[in-house]
Amino acid sequence: MDDNDIRKSVCIIGSGLSGLTCGMRLARAGFNVTVVEELASPGGLLAYTRIGREYLELTPHHLRKSDRSLLALIKEMGVEDKLSWFDSTWQGRASHRKVGYFDGGFSCLISSLAQEIIDHGGRICFSTTVAEISKLGSGAYRTVCVLPNSTRFVIDSTYVIFTGSCRTFINVSHGLPIAMDDRDTMMNVTYSAKISAFMVLKRENSQMFYQQMTKGADMPFDRIINHTSAFGQRGYGGSVVYLVGSCQVTDPLWIESDADIMLKFFAAYRKLYRSIRKSDVKSWRITKIRYAQTEHYPGIDLTNPCENLYVCSTGLAKFNTAETPENRMELAVMLAGKICSEIVAKEARSEAEAESATEVISLTREQAEISRS
Ligand SMILES: Cc1cc2nc3c(=O)[nH]c(=O)nc-3n(C[C@H](O)[C@H](O)[C@H](O)COP(=O)(O)OP(=O)(O)OC[C@H]3O[C@@H](n4cnc5c(N)ncnc54)[C@H](O)[C@@H]3O)c2cc1C
Repeated sequence: MDDNDIRKSVCIIGSGLSGLTCGMRLARAGFNVTVVEELASPGGLLAYTRIGREYLELTPHHLRKSDRSLLALIKEMGVEDKLSWFDSTWQGRASHRKVGYFDGGFSCLISSLAQEIIDHGGRICFSTTVAEISKLGSGAYRTVCVLPNSTRFVIDSTYVIFTGSCRTFINVSHGLPIAMDDRDTMMNVTYSAKISAFMVLKRENSQMFYQQMTKGADMPFDRIINHTSAFGQRGYGGSVVYLVGSCQVTDPLWIESDADIMLKFFAAYRKLYRSIRKSDVKSWRITKIRYAQTEHYPGIDLTNPCENLYVCSTGLAKFNTAETPENRMELAVMLAGKICSEIVAKEARSEAEAESATEVISLTREQAEISRS
């Protein structure tokens, strides 16, 4: 790759909401965009699967009316007409809330963002893990990628945006000139893991609550989300129920097989709903999320730890505080927008500088020619 190809290029690590939003923004702004994703499909925490005639997220997601940046993005991507608002009943405080969900699930937003990147000449490399990011003598970044068959290849770019967890960033950025204090602060960002199960039940689930809390030492999950109680049965072929539990990766449950975890989750669910039998479960799926929720946030802004390199991770900022949005997807879209605006402005400045330098050079040449003649 020569210098011209590297100019105005960005390597984005992760194809979740943050990575795809950044990719779409920068591809539209004329950048040469490459997104690298270790999974086989896009979406990150918003990954989805086919259930009956529908797509369904592996973990429960909904929109809130307060998600202003996210709603603006949805409009911009032309999928606003697929979004509807539903009444939902939550157990505990603030029990009646409007929640937003798409016809066809969040897949419509994720696929339209991915398509926009491709339509603007970008590419998305799936099943590709970023193992290392280093800086070249020219000031460009080199991202080392590994394919499932262990083949390695590199992507050289002016900018890098990392959207995974702070822990993963630290692991892939050993050779970068990041201040020791910043590196330590990022190391101290801690996460809790989550195990999410969804079940499609043959029987109509008559639960009135959309979200129910199930605190108790003997419960392997702490939240039940009755997806269909708010969004309807659609083409799922039954009622969809999510069971979500927080845990640490050192907990014995984390390393158990999906089948054993499902047995434990279902046994606990039956303690609450005795009428549901094993034979009522049409299908189920377990999803383990290693870096699901930040427990300890950094007190400083670490989104730009070294020049032209950005960490666009919701793990860096607390959500649902007086200053930050209530929902994490909103935070992700806001952060992606801020970082992309910075990159576009920076690039515009360096293009203007390069242009004025060219003008100076041609002026000097003209003067030299005049004085020669
Ligand atoms: C159970 C659960 C329920 C939630 N519900 C809601 C909700 O209802 N509303 C809401 O607003 N938010 C919700 N959230 C939060 C929301 O899902 C996230 O804020 C949002 O999806 C984050 O997107 P992201 O792109 O920043 O990160 P991610 O989705 O985590 O994307 C990061 C991507 O980077 C990839 N990656 C990481 N490391 C590498 C590497 N080395 N090489 C290549 N690829 C790599 C990962 O595979 C992943 O695809 C929920 C989260 C969880 C866990």
